[in-house]
Amino acid sequence: MDIIVLIKQVPDTTDVKLDPKTGSLIREGVESIINPDDRHALEAAVNLKEEKGGKVTVISMGPPQAIDAISEALGMGADEGILLSDKAFAGADTWATSFTLGKAIEKVGKYDLVICGRQAIDGDTAQIGPQVAEYLRVPQVTYVCGIEKVGRKKIVLKRRLEDGFERVQCPLPALLTVIKEVNVPRFPRLGGLIDACGEKANIKVWNAADIGAQTRDVGLEGSLTHVIKTFAPKFKRQGEILEGESKEVVNTLVDKLVENNLI
Ligand SMILES: Cc1cc2nc3c(=O)[nH]c(=O)nc-3n(C[C@H](O)[C@H](O)[C@H](O)COP(=O)(O)OP(=O)(O)OC[C@H]3O[C@@H](n4cnc5c(N)ncnc54)[C@H](O)[C@@H]3O)c2cc1C
Repeated sequence: MDIIVLIKQVPDTTDVKLDPKTGSLIREGVESIINPDDRHALEAAVNLKEEKGGKVTVISMGPPQAIDAISEALGMGADEGILLSDKAFAGADTWATSFTLGKAIEKVGKYDLVICGRQAIDGDTAQIGPQVAEYLRVPQVTYVCGIEKVGRKKIVLKRRLEDGFERVQCPLPALLTVIKEVNVPRFPRLGGLIDACGEKANIKVWNAADIGAQTRDVGLEGSLTHVIKTFAPKFKRQGEILEGESKEVVNTLVDKLVENNLI
């Protein structure tokens, strides 16, 4: 079974802070990690490979340092990694990101499954999986929390709904987006990590030309959405702390509660 896993390197925080002047993400001092959902995607892929044979290819689009995420994925059991890195990819919205990942998958060629995380903790859109499936014109199953049966031509999956679960059968090839309930990701093997960081590591770096993409279709140029302004929300409600234990303070508190129709 040949499986492609899409992994994104993200800042190790769900509390993404924005520079109020530039509107861009503050990355200084924030460690980068493999997006948490993507570890589960990788674990699912490696498990299937161990059970059925085949190979696991990880693909990540990002700056050169995203190679660390790929090395870690190799340490967890992936067989090969592809880093999509090119200045032309910068500023991509989800449309351009999905197009770029789709082109790379087409270049890889044969696959039975593409597995993604449901959502990245920085971009947070959960659009990439469904968009890549549409690009590849393969069926997609989202919110997968269990892989129940895998045949040569079809797969049976459990997916989470808002108030229950659904069992779905889907023909292969297909794209899945997984959530954390699907498995417990393994830690990378030390030997695997050493190999993945060595000269013989099976990691390729592809640019726009390598995947046959025109620069007008990728990055900022290929993006259909453009951010006009980025800002942190301002809270209208201001807190007020009344200090002290006197009767006066208590009366002030009661007056304020009455004023605001709270009592
Ligand atoms: C107008 C615009 C401009 C932007 N400019 C920039 C910019 O300059 N720099 C920047 O860093 N971001 C930029 N972004 C954000 C960027 O488009 C998104 O981070 C990216 O498209 C992925 O979306 P997401 O993070 O919401 O992923 P989600 O859709 O939430 O991710 C779901 C899953 O898709 C897969 N996935 C997502 N991204 C990747 C990836 N890169 N490689 C491999 N797999 C992936 C993973 O499996 C992940 O779990 C911009 C967005 C917009 C709208």
